[in-house]
Amino acid sequence: MKKILVTGGAGFIGSHLCEKLLNEGNEVISLDNYFTGNKKNIIHLIDNPYFEIIRHDVTMPFFIEVDEIYNLACPASPIHYQYNGIKTIKTSVMGAINMLGLAKRINAKILQASTSEVYGDPKVHPQKEDYWGHVNPIGIRSCYDEGKRCAETLFMEYHNQNNINIKIIRIFNTYGTRMHPNDGRVVSNFIVQALKNKDITIFGTGQQTRSFQYIDDLVTGMQKMMNTDDGFTGPVNIGNPNEFTIINLAKKVIDLTGSKSKLVFKPLPEDDPVQRQPDISLAKEKLNWEPKINLEEGLIKTIKYFERELRN
Ligand code: NAD
Ligand code: UDP
Repeated sequence: MKKILVTGGAGFIGSHLCEKLLNEGNEVISLDNYFTGNKKNIIHLIDNPYFEIIRHDVTMPFFIEVDEIYNLACPASPIHYQYNGIKTIKTSVMGAINMLGLAKRINAKILQASTSEVYGDPKVHPQKEDYWGHVNPIGIRSCYDEGKRCAETLFMEYHNQNNINIKIIRIFNTYGTRMHPNDGRVVSNFIVQALKNKDITIFGTGQQTRSFQYIDDLVTGMQKMMNTDDGFTGPVNIGNPNEFTIINLAKKVIDLTGSKSKLVFKPLPEDDPVQRQPDISLAKEKLNWEPKINLEEGLIKTIKYFERELRN
């Protein structure tokens, strides 16, 4: 049994990770400030005597004895991370410094939830880990993109200078159960709009692409990365290479829900990446991992979840 700290543990990804780690017999501590997360996501776990919930902000130092740290604390949806850009940068950068300092002090292994956004609006397709990216340092997405890039730099510096056992994964668009109905990201927006027979909001022409990964595949990938040999730091892309245009995603959601919704076109947000697809050769080679759940299968599970949520 390991003792594991999950920052952002009450969020969409964090709650799934906490649940899986507990089911595998570990002791798990969720740390969260509930900015975008919700106790509802982890309430079903509190009867487990090996689960602990702590309200804390990662921008402040935190001390605990654990074997492993998964650092997930950070708002991930553009509407949420842009709400207070300065706080988003502090969460990424000071959060990384505080968690790396903790890892150094207690000699724990630490994994950073980085993002495909470090590639910005990529000029290389699909994106491999050795691509440096194409990021606007002063645009509306910069607080998130540059915050996450700086966090990666901090992780590498702590590894190089202090020999901390670090792991970096770059997560590509992930969706699934426990996303908040007002999360604002595309999959949850389209499903909620379709289930309410409201207009589906396509930003721009809908010809931009994303590659969507189901939550269960991501959690497996994260754990496999944490369990790689000491000295292997990544970064490693974790995503599903199946690439879809946003308009095709909308059509698929309408099909699967049997909705009467119509497509409406809204302005494309500034710096919205045109295309995105992970090259996952490194994850296959080093983690023996690849996603198993295709978009239709994942969407069906997610639609069922939102149907229940909207009834309550
Ligand atoms: P989420 O918003 O559901 O979860 C983030 C969690 O972090 C929330 O519970 C929130 O309350 C908490 N949090 C935010 N700021 C905090 C702070 N200062 N102190 C403590 N807790 C704080 O988002 P998610 O989709 O679960 O994302 C989790 C992580 O994965 C994030 O770091 C995100 O950048 C990364 N990621 C997610 C995706 C994706 O598609 N879901 C893609 C790339 C990277
Ligand atoms: N998008 C959209 N309608 C929405 C929400 C998002 O067309 O209601 C588009 C958005 O402009 C982007 C894509 O869907 O091109 C993915 O957006 P999301 O916010 O989910 O993730 P990110 O842009 O960070 O990859």
